[in-house]
Amino acid sequence: MMAKPGVERLKALLKANVEAHRQQLEELSGKIHDSPELGFQENRAAGWLKGYLEENGFSIEPAICELPTAFRGSYGTGQPAIALLAEYDALPRLGHACGHNLIAASAIGAAVAAKAAVDRLGGCVLVLGTPAEELPGGKIIMAERGAFDNLDVAMMVHPGTQDTATSQTLVCAPLEAEFFGREAHAAARPEAGINALEAMLLSFAAINSLRQHIKDKARIHGIISDGGQMANIVPGHSAASFLVRAQDEAYLEELKGRVLDCFNGAATATGARLEYRWGDRAYAPMSNNLTLARLFRANMKSLGHPMRLYDTSQTLGSTDMGNVSQLVPSIHPFVAIAPEEVVGHSRQFAEAAASEAGRRAMILAAKALAMTIVDLLASPETVTRVKSEFSRNK
Ligand SMILES: [Zn+2]
Ligand SMILES: [Zn+2]
Repeated sequence: MMAKPGVERLKALLKANVEAHRQQLEELSGKIHDSPELGFQENRAAGWLKGYLEENGFSIEPAICELPTAFRGSYGTGQPAIALLAEYDALPRLGHACGHNLIAASAIGAAVAAKAAVDRLGGCVLVLGTPAEELPGGKIIMAERGAFDNLDVAMMVHPGTQDTATSQTLVCAPLEAEFFGREAHAAARPEAGINALEAMLLSFAAINSLRQHIKDKARIHGIISDGGQMANIVPGHSAASFLVRAQDEAYLEELKGRVLDCFNGAATATGARLEYRWGDRAYAPMSNNLTLARLFRANMKSLGHPMRLYDTSQTLGSTDMGNVSQLVPSIHPFVAIAPEEVVGHSRQFAEAAASEAGRRAMILAAKALAMTIVDLLASPETVTRVKSEFSRNK
């Protein structure tokens, strides 16, 4: 089927709109990169993004969902309502080692460019500012508070080391564990102590043993956040944060039980008392809308940047976009900003997020997102196909 000439002309206009804003978008992305803020503290980033959208004719609702650094920007009022999601949180010590500065800039770049499509075709384009993707998952909270109700489509593009139109992610459950023992002088009266740190170390050892016998793509990993106060005091308290991940919910549940067995075994061995809490908010699996993913991929191809639809070798993380994808037809493609040997959440990836390759990927993503918006606004049948695929997969 040949594309309608009107659609192609409109896409060309939107591409030119992104180009016209290139310098500002690159500056904005650089500014966010140079001033990294942790989840729920992204005041500067959210401020700059809201400012940019407002200057360009978007109405802004700040602090939606009772989250000070979340926001909603909108242009147009009709249907369909197409949301671009902006992330902008950084990682402790590493800064923008997940490249969320590029996600934010590509989202607002596409949204502002797409105003011309809304003016001609109707519908509504929104930017949802979604804080704290890394932990605890701002979109999970926003989903509970209705931020994604009444949307027809939700899209974002994440920087990566491969070009793929879909994402395979792991379901992920957070666990907080604490041991309570008894303090004592570690040299004078060690027999009077109950060592909460030893209980934690045993738990880690037991989990290490468990790990060689779990399914291939499952992950269990944690940090000790309290390991005692002084070497001459038997630690009376220890604490750790863990993430347990699996490819599906059923295996996650099984794994959660086995991880708890490790902690309980260590409690029995040491006499320390275990207290634990599973986070009530888990990262859901990404449900990729293939109709949308194919549209995005076709637009990337027309920009001279072919990408795979799937990549089975894809490295697996988790994203709170998974939770959005359970509510709204969604895509979360990856666009490469660094070679495959560069690892996410590393200093090298943080450098790539401020590199020429990073900026190029951000502009490409903004154009392809804007062009995908044209595909949707210009064709109610396409929106229907996207939605019926979503309903089929529920
Ligand atoms: Zn990340
Ligand atoms: Zn990320």
